[in-house]
Amino acid sequence: MPTAYISHPDCLKHNMGSFHPECPQRLIAIENELKTTGLLAQLQCYEAPLATDEQLARVHTPDYIESIRQASPAAGLVALDADTAMNPFSLNAALRAAGAVILATDLVLNGQVKNAFCAIRPPGHHAESDRAMGFCLFNNIAAGVAHALAQHHLQRVAILDFDVHHGNGSEEIFRNNPQVMLCSTFQHPFYPYSGANGTTERMINVPLPRGSNGAIFRQAVIDHWLPALDRFQPEMIFVSAGFDAHKDDDMAQLNLEDSDYGWITQQIRGIAAKYSQDRIVSALEGGYELESLGRCAAAHVRALAAD
Ligand SMILES: [Zn+2]
Repeated sequence: MPTAYISHPDCLKHNMGSFHPECPQRLIAIENELKTTGLLAQLQCYEAPLATDEQLARVHTPDYIESIRQASPAAGLVALDADTAMNPFSLNAALRAAGAVILATDLVLNGQVKNAFCAIRPPGHHAESDRAMGFCLFNNIAAGVAHALAQHHLQRVAILDFDVHHGNGSEEIFRNNPQVMLCSTFQHPFYPYSGANGTTERMINVPLPRGSNGAIFRQAVIDHWLPALDRFQPEMIFVSAGFDAHKDDDMAQLNLEDSDYGWITQQIRGIAAKYSQDRIVSALEGGYELESLGRCAAAHVRALAAD
């Protein structure tokens, strides 16, 4: 069975200004790399649908969803926080981004594809139930997780988040939900300054000091993520796939290399094979240095698609 690749042209129209690092070129860099490496031809491509309010309301408050609809400008930019803004196309991009993860969840759970990668923006893991922040409007991965629980009646789902930033939104949404485990590695202390003291049985937060390299990252996954996942035995795995911990990405100060992204994806596939009937849905989060972003996302997709 193929790996699904889900995106939408609307995700290219969301633009927060010409100097904003979370830019449309990020998706172009990924798609170009998938084309030149021949990977794209092996994938099953889908256009992302718009998420419905009902789907979003599983993870966001109705007031928050309405406030985002109301904030959508007819022209120009409107700021939601210090580094998150909407242009006239952002609302649809955000609805497509969440819709992509929901479609991916259906495709994987209906057995139509082996697994899925969503090339989407805006990203999602900082968005809380009632707050946009850190370039994120809706929590895309959370919407997929909630869909798997509500629509497909799964009992245990894990989110694995290797973005350089802590997935505070995913944690806030699922902290008190016994059906969801979150494993996160992140630079600390660093934006959004959450997570370091928040480890519980299901919230597996692994702060890494600035300068940490791939060997330190891999050991953290081996020591903290894998035993927790062996205990929890998730029926499906969602991945918040951020590539901003790469050494060439100056958004942060971790020093992962291209091969670390292939490695972590192989680990995730190993867990999914053991407990989750190979079911993996991955969604793009961060990654701002365009060349390493393209290469590392391709390494991730290559490992997802491998037999
Ligand atoms: Zn990030």
